[in-house]
Amino acid sequence: MPIHEYECRDCRLKFEIIDLGGEDEPATCPRCRSENVEKKVSLFSSSCGDGFSCGFPGGFG
Ligand SMILES: [Zn+2]
Repeated sequence: MPIHEYECRDCRLKFEIIDLGGEDEPATCPRCRSENVEKKVSLFSSSCGDGFSCGFPGGFG
């Protein structure tokens, strides 16, 4: 499942949110509860799920 990485612009905390699907709520900083967060590009999930190789050892068949 995709993992979205965020960085809080208020307290600079970096955190990850696992996308369980269906939920489309704005990300909220777990430390200061701010919604002023910036979505980061994850190296692991950015190109996965779109038919591209994810680079996992052994792959998924
Ligand atoms: Zn914060």
